[in-house]
Amino acid sequence: MIQQLPAQVIFGGTYDPVHHGHLRSALELAEALEVNQVDLIPSRDPVHRTGTDAPAIDRLQMLERATASESRLVINRIELDAERESYTLFTLQELRAQIGPNTALILVVGMDAFQGLESWKGWGSLLDYAHLLVLKRPGYQPHFSDRLHKLYQQCSAPMLEELRQSPAGKICLFEQTPLEVSATQVRKLIAAGGSPRYLIPDAVWDYIQEKELYGFQRTETD
Ligand code: ATP
Repeated sequence: MIQQLPAQVIFGGTYDPVHHGHLRSALELAEALEVNQVDLIPSRDPVHRTGTDAPAIDRLQMLERATASESRLVINRIELDAERESYTLFTLQELRAQIGPNTALILVVGMDAFQGLESWKGWGSLLDYAHLLVLKRPGYQPHFSDRLHKLYQQCSAPMLEELRQSPAGKICLFEQTPLEVSATQVRKLIAAGGSPRYLIPDAVWDYIQEKELYGFQRTETD
């Protein structure tokens, strides 16, 4: 029998706000990879967008409320606490230094993020530190550039189990329950006066209303 390495699974994002697409994917991954924990890593200072709509402190609070009753979803503050920009490469290097060479480090990204991989700082070195687990995201058909396609062909791991057989270097596509929800959609809904209920946890919606985030406006009946 092939030996399974211990694994650290990390799922970074802006979580602006966290929604059921994130949470359900993370939980399904924990079960499929047979790990006790998936680390959710909120970014401090996003580099791939012009700015988050909610400050880090609120994004963190919402994540805390969303994960309070699920011990397998753990918030990791590595990017929030770092006195540097939230480049994934630096985070992977820091985590690799912490866990040593004999633990699989599994970086979870959605298909949309994977397709934009070439714009990430040091993208060619990411697989030196971690595996990439790509979530098939509804609405995003796999469409890779030639370079990304080549990388995928070289590193593709058809079976999820393979990610726990080496510390880094593989890419695996994961088919979780497709939930077509995005934080952009949630923010737009709220700004337009609609309810994002059932797209996000109730505790997150309560927090958004309390703090009047994303253009939420109280009406007299609230
Ligand atoms: P935004 O709409 O603001 O871009 P988002 O919904 O994509 O936000 P992020 O916090 O940016 O959320 O996403 C973190 C990670 O989760 C990314 O890798 C993204 O691709 C992935 N992701 C987000 N929503 C889903 C979903 N519904 N299904 C699968 N993956 C998702």
